[in-house]
Amino acid sequence: MLSDRLDAIRSELPGGVTLIVVTKFHPVGLVRELHALGVRDFGESRHQEAGPKAAEFADLDLDWHFIGQLQSNKAKAVRAYASAVHSLDRPSLLGALADPDATAPLGVFIQVNLTEDPGRGGVRPGDLAGFAERAVATPGVRLAGLMAVAGLGEDPAREFARVRELRDRVLLPVAPEATALSMGMSGDWREAVREGATHLRIGTAITGNRPDPAYSRP
Ligand SMILES: *Cc1c(COP(=O)(O)O)cnc(C)c1O
Repeated sequence: MLSDRLDAIRSELPGGVTLIVVTKFHPVGLVRELHALGVRDFGESRHQEAGPKAAEFADLDLDWHFIGQLQSNKAKAVRAYASAVHSLDRPSLLGALADPDATAPLGVFIQVNLTEDPGRGGVRPGDLAGFAERAVATPGVRLAGLMAVAGLGEDPAREFARVRELRDRVLLPVAPEATALSMGMSGDWREAVREGATHLRIGTAITGNRPDPAYSRP
């Protein structure tokens, strides 16, 4: 049952770790069920889906975490409902998220690319310090920390340790407040917690399998 899966994970989490339940591809009914179970942090990866969901629950006190690839032309729309964007991966997106008139800052996590493949999303470790400096100087955003997805076939514990090391050695000297680490999904959240994750993004281990959008069309 949903509540059993949620409770099992919650019972293992140390204090101070934010559990974000990823509800992408799931109907709003599941968000409502999770809300009834006390979940307040939700993760979504596509604006066309997240926008309507956030609007549906606008009267509730939910935090929407945007975790997917974000096109710059959708940045303003996402900022309107999201409390945080975990997938800040390039300067043009940072510029599009900037807002000198913002009443509340948008939390941003710099997504790091730990692979040798430049086609994968994220900022290369060598570019991290310069990018973080830009983020700190950008109005209307608050740099929270780093985000990473462990590579397929890689040892997640080793990758998460590298992210933590990058935070300590490269990020904190230019952004001392940016202590957060968004890492850990259904298959590797225990390793992430052991390496100091502050934000877990967990979908299927709580929600069950996602409906395949290709099959959900009428
Ligand atoms: C879908 C997604 C998750 C959740 O994945 P699960 O394996 O279902 O836990 C976490 N992070 C990102 C960036 C995602 O796209």
